[in-house]
Amino acid sequence: MEESLLNNVIALCKRRGFMFAGSEIYGGLANTYDFGPLGVEIKNNIKKLWWKRFVQKRKDIFGLDGGILLNRKIWEASGHTASFLDYLVECKTCHKRFRVDHIEGFQLQKDGTAECQSLPSCPSGEKHTLNVEIFQKKEDGTSIIKPRRFNGMFRTYIGATEDSDALAYLRPETAQAIFTNFKNVVNAFSPSFPFGIAQIGKAFRNEITTGYFIFRTLEFEQMEIEYFIKKENWENVFKIWQDEMMDWAVFVGIDKSKLRFREHDEQERSHYSKRTVDLEYQFPTGFKEMYGLAYRGDFDLSNHSKHSGVALLFKDKETNEEFFPHVVEPSFGVERTLLPLLLDAYAQEEKRIVMRFVPHIAPVKVAVFPLLANKDDLVALAHQTYENLKKSIDGLIMFDDRGNIGKRYFSQDEIGTPFCVTVDFQSLEDNTVTVRDRDTTKQERISIGKLSDFLINKLSS
Ligand code: ATP
Repeated sequence: MEESLLNNVIALCKRRGFMFAGSEIYGGLANTYDFGPLGVEIKNNIKKLWWKRFVQKRKDIFGLDGGILLNRKIWEASGHTASFLDYLVECKTCHKRFRVDHIEGFQLQKDGTAECQSLPSCPSGEKHTLNVEIFQKKEDGTSIIKPRRFNGMFRTYIGATEDSDALAYLRPETAQAIFTNFKNVVNAFSPSFPFGIAQIGKAFRNEITTGYFIFRTLEFEQMEIEYFIKKENWENVFKIWQDEMMDWAVFVGIDKSKLRFREHDEQERSHYSKRTVDLEYQFPTGFKEMYGLAYRGDFDLSNHSKHSGVALLFKDKETNEEFFPHVVEPSFGVERTLLPLLLDAYAQEEKRIVMRFVPHIAPVKVAVFPLLANKDDLVALAHQTYENLKKSIDGLIMFDDRGNIGKRYFSQDEIGTPFCVTVDFQSLEDNTVTVRDRDTTKQERISIGKLSDFLINKLSS
């Protein structure tokens, strides 16, 4: 049943223009998606709300928009060239590739080997044999295998030649441009401590496993904050950001009862991290990472200082003490926000499908209809109402005069539009319109003069 929820959401997303399989008319490109008119609205809403909440409304966080292409030395200093690795095994029969850390019963070790109970078999569930060499078999029956290593960064070349000097990478995370601009932001703004730098942007990963709709894609957007702190405060700050992440997820409409935190153990933690906690969402197939929170110590600033020769230190204004700030990093995926909120919004009722988005996330805020499309005076007043609402309401307003009014309501319910405004014959007499509420389906009459304020108030509550 839960699997069919995902299938229903995928079908609705395509049918109603939220998102489409990437490069579809050429047979597609695995793990890529294009966002349609409604998908781009929701994504923009997510990014706009996040920016407002974590940058514009705070004194202590500064914004940044760094490059996707960065000097290759940055990835050497950050450890990505050596350590941004996935470990994969391939099936001899079906030739599917699997990430070892995603296979149940396999335990990836820090040295790049993996332990698995009994003999390793293909995770597809078929009786296939994996193409791996077992180089040790323990007495308790555990096998030790050496999976293939694979660097997840996309490569490209800068300039006319494709030699090793021209090699560059598409960024696999937005964080590094924040670290390399640390001094620039400090010099320009003299922030007091603690403070953060935030960035929203595309990241690229050469993912080797097949995707789960938009859960794991080759290119995606991240919303990241590097929050610079004194070492002794890290546990406190970590806890604050854990709460901030949870509050944000609930604010965009994700069901709190489907969220949980999961601590990474020593084996699982990334090369830079001293503590990592994932905020996981209960997808139809089980709990999976939605966001990550990592305590990166002073790994990044001290390594960039070593490699670049530029000391990325912070000077305490009172004590004149210079030190490498430590960092707590909350990392939010835009698409990993979108998928849970689509799943939670979807409701199949007796007569209709309704997406119960919270109003600030809904892709269309208000739809305006003339009761009948062939009555010029109704259409003219509806157009005028639509134009006025476009001026006063932030977000997409739709005009629709196709089909009958009932179909138009259902069509808007299916894309989660919170309010529909209908201009009818009474409107011509007393300058009132009906406003229909998506969730209750109840209508009330409002005078056109008060309509904008009424809707703005409803949309923000
Ligand atoms: P996973 O274990 O699922 O590969 P990760 O632990 O490598 O993810 P992070 O490096 O912590 O992910 O990335 C930070 C955030 O970026 C994730 O919490 C997620 O929201 C998002 N993200 C990472 N990889 C992808 C991807 N391939 N597609 C979509 N979003 C992603």
